[in-house]
Amino acid sequence: MLCFTIADIIARHLALVKSINGRMSLIFVFLDGVGLAPASPSNPLATAMTPAFHALLGGPLTSEQSQQSDNLLLKPIDATLGVPGLPQSGTGHVALLTGVNAPLLIGRHQPNYPPVALRGILAEQSIFRQAQHRGLEVVFANVFTPGYWQALAARRLRRSASLIAAEGASLRLRDLDDLRAGQALMWDITGDALQVRDEGLAVPPVTPKQAGAHLAALSQSCHLVFFESFLPDLAGHGRLPLSDEAALERIDGFLAGLLDALLPGDTLLITSDHGNIEDRRTPVHTRNPAPLLVVGAGVDAFARAETIADIAAVVMNVLA
Ligand SMILES: [Zn+2]
Repeated sequence: MLCFTIADIIARHLALVKSINGRMSLIFVFLDGVGLAPASPSNPLATAMTPAFHALLGGPLTSEQSQQSDNLLLKPIDATLGVPGLPQSGTGHVALLTGVNAPLLIGRHQPNYPPVALRGILAEQSIFRQAQHRGLEVVFANVFTPGYWQALAARRLRRSASLIAAEGASLRLRDLDDLRAGQALMWDITGDALQVRDEGLAVPPVTPKQAGAHLAALSQSCHLVFFESFLPDLAGHGRLPLSDEAALERIDGFLAGLLDALLPGDTLLITSDHGNIEDRRTPVHTRNPAPLLVVGAGVDAFARAETIADIAAVVMNVLA
């Protein structure tokens, strides 16, 4: 226990030094498949136990809690981007990471992975690349496991938008050693999914709150830290051994850990690419707006964002 106490003291000391130096960080949490909709029995965001969201917003993550103050913003942002049909991840991720209206550019919402036509945009124009060009430190917090690389090599998976963007910026991609050291996170937040695949036998799962603290700690050594979770989208599609409510309660614990560790002057940004989990009546995506939730110093800048394609430009403004 002593080690943890000393580590905590050191972390707080470093945090103090950082705030004295005026260096601020943006923590970008991308939650796939979360829409902002009214509270109702069909909205798991309203029925899940989410004490951290309630403490922060005065209620659940539903549209009734939309608000803006000096250091808190919740507003709906458009995820359809002027294109008919259901918004999808392949184009939505590109819009979030680059600011390019990807579905309008290719004339459709593309599911799952970005099409070849958008890969160059991702590699060249992402917030990762832009931040690096300004000399800022960027951390991509997700772990990439041996199983993931094997699936890519075997063409069972295709490169995600975030991976293409990270490779375009030559970001270091974190591995199981980073995860073991608490310096990376699994997409499911806790690492339980690793145990299922036998990949993480030497990497015990963490609690959602610990995962939040790990992500916040990573922000202390960089200007921009990015983490993406597919938990809500997969739960919304019914593709996890986890109820919608259980997935959202895990996210709530994660938020609690993040908020506990958020430093004065830093900004926490949580947003999504399209709706899904907020409507249990359908197992597919929705045309609901995405939530734009911002805590901390960047609230005023993000209040101007109206669509998911506006986020990248504001991220760069806040980092300026
Ligand atoms: Zn989906």
